[in-house]
Amino acid sequence: MIKMNSNEFDKLVKEDTGLKGNCNLCKESKHDVGKKTGYGVIIYKIGNAKNGWFATLSPKTGGNPKHDFTIQLMPFSHLTHFSQIENYPGMAENYGICFSKICSAMTKILMQNEDLKADTSNKDLSAPIATYGKSTTWNKKKEHLHIKIFQFRDNIGQPYTVDSSFGRKKTFKDKDEEFVKMNPVKKVMLGKKRFEQLAKELVSLLKD
Ligand SMILES: [Zn+2]
Repeated sequence: MIKMNSNEFDKLVKEDTGLKGNCNLCKESKHDVGKKTGYGVIIYKIGNAKNGWFATLSPKTGGNPKHDFTIQLMPFSHLTHFSQIENYPGMAENYGICFSKICSAMTKILMQNEDLKADTSNKDLSAPIATYGKSTTWNKKKEHLHIKIFQFRDNIGQPYTVDSSFGRKKTFKDKDEEFVKMNPVKKVMLGKKRFEQLAKELVSLLKD
């Protein structure tokens, strides 16, 4: 048996996850599929208020605004930690369905728009999809869970700290500090027309 401070873990999983008036993501969750939320557009919903997830198309990308786009996946309720998910029956299952459906829809759109291949020795013809999310109990950074799904290429496709290729990057020294170089990433808006077209396409692909 692992000895642990189970009291603290119980406190964490039993946290009140009811809608918070001051949380943007709680507010977004109330909109219907296809509707603008004030930030993005809701493209998919699954499950109920207690075990469900919703996904939005973000109006901005850190990649190429002509080809790239980011989708954000969130629970309806105000969960703040990944470890809370299994406490709600059906929530893990709904996450899996939502995540895989979004990845499929994203891949279909990329392949169709850029003629990408299922298996290729040409990096430019590949369909690279990555996901990123984090959670903490540090109250300064505790926020409504959200997971990003995006194309891992160009400046967004640089090795990340968890990749062994990050550890192999050339290191430089500034006084006593070591550092590695990375290309800067700037988020840009998608064109209005492309954003609306993409949202429509995603809603329709995710219906099936
Ligand atoms: Zn919230």
